[in-house]
Amino acid sequence: MSDPSLEALLEVQAHDLVIDQLRHRRATLPERAALSAQSHTLAEVGRRLDDNQGQAHELERRQRRLEDETELVVAKAIDSEGRLYSGTVTAPRELQALSAEVEGLRRRQRGFEDEVLEVMEAREPIEAERAHLAGEEQNLRAEGSRLVTLLVAGEGEIDGLIAAELVARERWAQEVPADLLNTYERLRLRLGGVGVARVDAGRCTGCHLGLSAVELDNLRRVGAGAAVRHEECGRILVP
Ligand SMILES: [Zn+2]
Repeated sequence: MSDPSLEALLEVQAHDLVIDQLRHRRATLPERAALSAQSHTLAEVGRRLDDNQGQAHELERRQRRLEDETELVVAKAIDSEGRLYSGTVTAPRELQALSAEVEGLRRRQRGFEDEVLEVMEAREPIEAERAHLAGEEQNLRAEGSRLVTLLVAGEGEIDGLIAAELVARERWAQEVPADLLNTYERLRLRLGGVGVARVDAGRCTGCHLGLSAVELDNLRRVGAGAAVRHEECGRILVP
């Protein structure tokens, strides 16, 4: 003869196991891991963008400095050329010196201009890299919001299933005496989620070990509402 409160407890157990599985599934939704990988990659791209920006700024500063220097040298050259061709300087030696000065300034100008070109060339791959990284960042952000949407949908679906299971579980739990339910919940915490087990062919289906002759005898004689525990594993036994 089966005890209705123990049968109800088995139903509670069945729903609890389904709820455990749903919670596990919720915690291990693939989108969760993908999202964590995505944010990791996004941070890495962010760091590379920062580095890239640092390099770009450094080259821009260098280019501006060179351009300023060029401007200065050009102004001096124009000034010297003005004096050279103004007719105010007539002494050949002075003219020669002035001419040499202009030539020197123009040479320095060409030197700076060459350097500016070099810096501009150096900036090209850095700017290309920035464009590439910015594109990557944008893709990652889009992928992130896609994953969040999927994750929220997946969680919502599982939450609905959990809520339904909890309602069903609660209905059965009301059929179980409070003491028995407390014992079951304590055992469940300790014994991998299974606190109550049916006896099948003389074995406990919780730990799969056989029951002693004394336990089997106790189980037969115990009255309704009383629970026998398996000596081996401690679980509540249901005949
Ligand atoms: Zn057992």
